[in-house]
Amino acid sequence: MASLSLKHIFKVYNGDVKAVNDFSMDIKDHEFIVFVGPSGCGKSTTLRMIAGLEDITAGELKIDNEVVNDFEPKDRNIAMVFQNYALYPHMTVYENMAFSLRTAHVPNDLIYEKVTEAAKILGITEYLDRKPKALSGGQRQRVALGRALVRNPKVFLLDEPLSNLDAKLRTQMRTEILRLHERLKTTFIYVTHDQVEAMTMGTRIVVMKDGYIKQIDTPINLYKYPNNMFVAGFIGTPQMNFFDAVISKEKDIVTYHLECGTKITMDYTYTNKVPLKYMDNNKKVIFGIRPDDVRLKSNKYTNDGTWISLKAIVSVIEVLGGETIIYGNLNLNTIDSEAGQIIIKAEPDSLIKRGDIIDIELSLNKFHVFDKETEESIKKRIPINNIINCNIKNNNLIIENESLKLPKVLNVSDINNTEITIPVKSIMLGSGPLTAKVESIEQIEDKVLYYLKINDLILFAEEQMKKYKIGEVVKLNIDLSQVSIPEKDIYPINLENSLNGSFIKEKVNKKEYKFYIKIGDIKISPTNVICEKLFTCKGHKIFNTPLVYRFNTLDIVVTKNSNLCKLKGNIIEVYDYGNKIFSKVNIEDENIIIEYNGTINEEVMLDINLDKVTIIDKKIDIIIV
Ligand code: ADP
Repeated sequence: MASLSLKHIFKVYNGDVKAVNDFSMDIKDHEFIVFVGPSGCGKSTTLRMIAGLEDITAGELKIDNEVVNDFEPKDRNIAMVFQNYALYPHMTVYENMAFSLRTAHVPNDLIYEKVTEAAKILGITEYLDRKPKALSGGQRQRVALGRALVRNPKVFLLDEPLSNLDAKLRTQMRTEILRLHERLKTTFIYVTHDQVEAMTMGTRIVVMKDGYIKQIDTPINLYKYPNNMFVAGFIGTPQMNFFDAVISKEKDIVTYHLECGTKITMDYTYTNKVPLKYMDNNKKVIFGIRPDDVRLKSNKYTNDGTWISLKAIVSVIEVLGGETIIYGNLNLNTIDSEAGQIIIKAEPDSLIKRGDIIDIELSLNKFHVFDKETEESIKKRIPINNIINCNIKNNNLIIENESLKLPKVLNVSDINNTEITIPVKSIMLGSGPLTAKVESIEQIEDKVLYYLKINDLILFAEEQMKKYKIGEVVKLNIDLSQVSIPEKDIYPINLENSLNGSFIKEKVNKKEYKFYIKIGDIKISPTNVICEKLFTCKGHKIFNTPLVYRFNTLDIVVTKNSNLCKLKGNIIEVYDYGNKIFSKVNIEDENIIIEYNGTINEEVMLDINLDKVTIIDKKIDIIIV
């Protein structure tokens, strides 16, 4: 039984090979977590850091709420199973399994009890007297599991345990490992490069690429709601179909113009999560649809209007028995070209051959859209931004026919039809100058997504609780400090402050040193936690390391008490957004933003919550605290 917390974990080899970057996640007791991704993406390194076989360069690893970064592997109560089994060849199966218990001086009769019990669970009782070389691959892997099992670990770590087995045995062992997980009720973390293994085993999956987490989610959510093209392409077989496209919108009709020439036209409601700015017939996007969400047109299916009909020319047919995979092309003139290629999952008995022109249908409820440049999904389950067009007139922001008075700080000349980005989280429901009607409500896990209609425009708002009903008219306000109007050079107030600095020591007497966070000429006494983390990560090199101290605006307050004062500065600008007021403070040639109603030239003493500060090693750009 164990929960784990990984916070900003980094692994840097040889000073500059960043194998794992900013890995953060919480793992609940009894979860079956799978790390999946192509070879070299940092899966094993992360697992080995959890096991204690590899030092953690920076970050914090907790097991059951205890920081274990400095614990020896044997003190972490973790067992690891490796791909190559790592059995002792000269010992019998019994001795292999008993080995860790013997070194822990467990009495013989208890060892016997544990080993025979584990052997029974794993079905290897009859092999206990054999040496590993007299066992098959599957049996050896069971012994490796048994060796972990006898120790009653809090966490099981498994590094590609099935890679050396043939396909049939692998499927069988998968089920056995899942059964073991169910029986032991402990936490499992499992590394594999095989997405099928990941999908069938994990309660949650961490998809990694080039040392970064690309998405953490349940198997079904990764499949249905991939956050980016990498996850979309990596999860699911055959792979998702991708098409280069641009999008246009004419009143309520949206058309995806695929580069291969095909047009996919639909009502706006099917695609209203895609920001309008992409519907300019110019911005490059990728239209994605899974082979499972395309079907052969047939009178077996009734089309309720949510499927769109297209034609394709067939190039290759793969008969798999239970189903048939058809490779076709949407461009009927280019049977084998890559552009326009579409994979379709069809019924096993489809009588189709190369060169046939077939009628297919795509589900309008299931397609995906990605920004071609960033490869991020732009049809996210919960959109991040509302990107809309509006007018500015007499210092009012006009959204459709609703108007919102702009504060002085956003005073800009009139403009028509300009793009404005309003984060979904910046829309506050309940009161305010704008009025909208609740068009639709979607409960997405623990969040509620409101579709708010102002005339023809849909605005998304995210709330924790369901407070309004469909059809209800609600008042709303916008946190204007977070909007951008690029044409007027207006960008959100940056709530993350960064100051350059270092960490220094000063001699107090012959034996004692005092340590300080140094920003310009200012010295701040660090907390013990900060000192400990800096030394753990960098040792004495910390004194020569350029650092960036980063803190959130909300973690800085103006104080009148000079004992609490950590930084001092002068206000050089004030931004009054109406419902929030911010001041820009100059500190030793650098500026930070605080939420404070100040006056220009005012000197302010600032208290910072040092428990919340983030410290970055500037040279290699990793978070060390
Ligand atoms: P995966 O398990 O996903 O295949 P690894 O965690 O083994 O990936 O490796 C991640 C990256 O770290 C790779 O680029 C690999 O070359 C590098 N790496 C792994 N171990 C070491 C090491 N001991 N020294 C230097 N680089 C390493």
